[in-house]
Amino acid sequence: CGIIAYAGEKNPLNVLINGLERLEYRGYDSAGISVLKDSDIYTVKAAGKVSSLAERIEADTQLEDVSQLHCGIAHTRWATHGGPTESNAHPHLGQNSRIALVHNGIIENYQELKNDLLAKGHTFKSETDTEILAHLIESHYDDDLKKAVSEALAKVEGAYGIAVISKDEPDTIITARFGSPIVIGLCKDEVIIASDINAIVQHTDRVVYLNDGDLAIVNKEGISFHDLTLKSVQRDEEKITHSA
Ligand code: GLU
Repeated sequence: CGIIAYAGEKNPLNVLINGLERLEYRGYDSAGISVLKDSDIYTVKAAGKVSSLAERIEADTQLEDVSQLHCGIAHTRWATHGGPTESNAHPHLGQNSRIALVHNGIIENYQELKNDLLAKGHTFKSETDTEILAHLIESHYDDDLKKAVSEALAKVEGAYGIAVISKDEPDTIITARFGSPIVIGLCKDEVIIASDINAIVQHTDRVVYLNDGDLAIVNKEGISFHDLTLKSVQRDEEKITHSA
């Protein structure tokens, strides 16, 4: 339902929670967040309101020191596959928790992909179509997140807006879309990815909209735009002239 992701020098928790609150108006049933912390992916989820998630994060002693946090992804979910429970809330992780993913949309061929992964020994923690995509990306991961996402998406039928992080590529976010919107906000030294301009307008008026079939690599060096086979494409920055 709602995606927000952040890479930059600010405390990502504040930016992500604030972004989720600005996406609340679209409706949702649960929310969650993953940040890169001590070379690992640290995830907090809650069924119900964003304020419940915010309270959990606030009370989490593991998240007291935010000085090392620079990157994260977050989601408000509107369930399509699996009930509105905490375990079905996004982000979802791969089999060995090396990658985490938030997803809007529906993976139509998830059952077929799930059967293949089950045959390879994968075990799943949720009933979502999204977790299948997380496992699929991780099963293609060989220290190159963009390549893993590109290869996994080649096998997917359906609609998606996604943001993906890996514990082995700490400052990188891969985002892609097909049938579900993604917009990238550009600020000095930081980047905010969202499914909706409402989560970006308070940070910047400089944005790039992804087209269907686009994949963007966001990291410290900047952003590059590609098609789903990783061929470079040109995407132009726009200025938002009115607040959404
Ligand atoms: N199909 C996914 C799920 O049920 C994503 C739903 C959404 O767009 O929020 O978890």
